[in-house]
Amino acid sequence: MSTYTPTREEKERFMSRAIELSAEGAFKGRGGPYGAVVVKDGKIVGEGYNRVFVDCDPSAHGEVVAIRNAGKNLGTFELTGCSLYTNFEPCPMCAATIWWSKLDRVYYAQPVKGSTVHHEENQAQVLNFVVTPIDKRPIPGEQIESKAKKAFDIIEKYLTDDTKKV
Ligand SMILES: [Zn+2]
Repeated sequence: MSTYTPTREEKERFMSRAIELSAEGAFKGRGGPYGAVVVKDGKIVGEGYNRVFVDCDPSAHGEVVAIRNAGKNLGTFELTGCSLYTNFEPCPMCAATIWWSKLDRVYYAQPVKGSTVHHEENQAQVLNFVVTPIDKRPIPGEQIESKAKKAFDIIEKYLTDDTKKV
């Protein structure tokens, strides 16, 4: 956790940048109107906007793009000590990315609730998808059981091998 605490003015300035990015990306046709910045000790260390269309990448949400950019700039995949500012409340995929990145805090402007029916329905559908057993999902997962042992052995070897490279 960072000891740095942004002032209200700083929070609004960083959020303004996230909103500016959301408009920039959307009106250049890069993707939907979503932008984000990652801040560490009062400085922007990563930023991005939704690039789903231009990158043909459904995972290129604004938050994910900003987190990738911050990780690259800081040379780490753990963003402890950093905060994310996003113009829109993160979707479940971005929430998971936020969890994996170990960010300290998330600031958002527009909440999902009360935005549009489209956003509220998407949020509910993705959450429902994730909590549904994998074989019962609308996009079902099927285990190849004959390969489970081989797959597990490599994971176990990796987790117990002290010489592994990071
Ligand atoms: Zn998202």
